[in-house]
Amino acid sequence: MATKVVVLGAGYAGAGTVKDLQKQLGQGVELTWVADVDYHLVLHESHRVIRDPAVQHKITIPVGEIADPGTEFVRGEVTGLDTDERVVEVDDGETTVDYDYVVVALGSQTAYYGIPGLEEYSHTLKGLDDALEIHEAVKDAAQDATRDDRAQVVVGGAGLSGIQSAGEIAEFRDKHRAPMDIYLVEALEEIFPPGDPEIQGALRKRLQENDIEILTDDPITEAEEDVIHFDERDPIDFDVFLWTGGVTGRDAMDGVDVENEHNRLNAEMDFRTSDERVFALGDSAVIDQPGEHPAPPTAQAAWQAAEVVADNVVRAINGQRLETWTHEDKGTVVSVGESAVAHDVYISPVTTFGGFPAKMLKKGIAARWIADLTSWKRAWNAWDAL
Ligand code: NAD
Repeated sequence: MATKVVVLGAGYAGAGTVKDLQKQLGQGVELTWVADVDYHLVLHESHRVIRDPAVQHKITIPVGEIADPGTEFVRGEVTGLDTDERVVEVDDGETTVDYDYVVVALGSQTAYYGIPGLEEYSHTLKGLDDALEIHEAVKDAAQDATRDDRAQVVVGGAGLSGIQSAGEIAEFRDKHRAPMDIYLVEALEEIFPPGDPEIQGALRKRLQENDIEILTDDPITEAEEDVIHFDERDPIDFDVFLWTGGVTGRDAMDGVDVENEHNRLNAEMDFRTSDERVFALGDSAVIDQPGEHPAPPTAQAAWQAAEVVADNVVRAINGQRLETWTHEDKGTVVSVGESAVAHDVYISPVTTFGGFPAKMLKKGIAARWIADLTSWKRAWNAWDAL
């Protein structure tokens, strides 16, 4: 009987794993790919859609361009994993998919930390539909605004998602000359709190040049239909509220019989979880690394990890020893609208830089990913949107 390998998710981790597995799986192995959408989204460029919805076609890749004809694609939302029966539950059990080995690459979902009103009244940016909704909301707010009654847009959480989104909203405002105030609010003392002061300063400067008001050192404590409350600051009224305050594991993994932290599956450095038939990587995993910290929930880490997890699935099938993976931090590249900042990039002797080189580097990274998954022709077609 054929060995059944199932990959869950079409993000960097899932799409990368499928791509690499297809190169390696031999006779007698069936590959099934399960995802809730029939495309891969280059998520770290999804904020571009906020400014211009036409970009969506350049940063989405249909699964048919990634999956080989021999790979079965099942479209549906993964809602559970039964490790005793070795079955993936899709769409609340409407469909089930059997496996011998499963690779969990489901990404993450927005964390609300139990803050009242947040889930109800905010937009999030975790997929293409989200980005399109934010675009519509910002456009509507801009249309309704007047010089005396300016549109109020609040981005909550100044991690890289919040910073990049605020930058795109500012580009939209400027392009349409909309009377609009944009606030970027952060609970901690500085924006991009895990970053070092050099990149924080460079990002702050660009955000301010883009006329984005930065409010730090005070957490959002509650949201109502059109007002946000803080611990200390006076409340802010809003027309559009985008919450980018962090990520957590998928509800689909709630109750799964695999060791996990907030639904992110604990994995060894070889991606094996407490169940040897279940591999996990990307944002849906907490992957052990030498030292204190697990691998970060970034596109870069998922991209690197996908290559090794594919090898390891093949090794597991063949009864060979698995390889281990160590995350290599190749630096951070962030856009703020039309400008970008690069920091600690391994190919550069300069620690932090912006301008044309940073912008080209950001485009190059996204293009390289698209080319790896499909072709340089597709990457080149996307170039102006990146
Ligand atoms: P994040 O967790 O990095 O940032 C969330 C921010 O929200 C934090 O700064 C946090 O202090 C703040 N916050 C939390 N609760 C708050 C509250 N109540 N009030 C105000 N602020 C609050 O989340 P993210 O930006 O979505 O990023 C997730 C991961 O993806 C990170 O590892 C990030 O580095 C990565 N990422 C990378 C890129 C890139 O490389 N260009 C882009 C986007 C995301």
